[in-house]
Amino acid sequence: MKKRIDWDQYFMVQATLLASRSTCKRLSVGAVLVRDKRIIAGGYNGSVSGDDHCIDEGCYLRDGHCVRTIHAEMNAILQCARFGMSTDGASLYVTDFPCLQCTKSLLQAGIKEINYIRNYHNDDYAMKLIKLKNVRLRQINLDQDILDQVHLDQYIDPQVARK
Ligand SMILES: [Zn+2]
Ligand SMILES: [Zn+2]
Repeated sequence: MKKRIDWDQYFMVQATLLASRSTCKRLSVGAVLVRDKRIIAGGYNGSVSGDDHCIDEGCYLRDGHCVRTIHAEMNAILQCARFGMSTDGASLYVTDFPCLQCTKSLLQAGIKEINYIRNYHNDDYAMKLIKLKNVRLRQINLDQDILDQVHLDQYIDPQVARK
């Protein structure tokens, strides 16, 4: 029986697809912002447009952190800023638990729900702020059955050669 993909899996799978565009070698993160069950923006961790990519030039490290990239969730917020979309009350679907800086920005941008797959150096202060702001925090794992059904290769048209 074909199971219809639920909203959480639907948005999370798209976050993972965005992560595949990441230009930093250290961690591939993808994020989508959702309002009223619609994706309003997406992002992945990458350089400022026009700058070198970590995957080409290596990471730009300071104190052990790559400082070249803008994080996925920030890129999603900035896309809204750039094109004039309200983030107030939106939900975030992100592959990895947001860092402290991103958490602060997400809360200040009015994000009301943070959904993530993997724990990643979860910051205590970020946790405290999430509670303070009454933001719903959920860890959502990808469902193997759903992934098996999504199988993208079914959409390949064997008649058309890919250049
Ligand atoms: Zn990097
Ligand atoms: Zn971050």
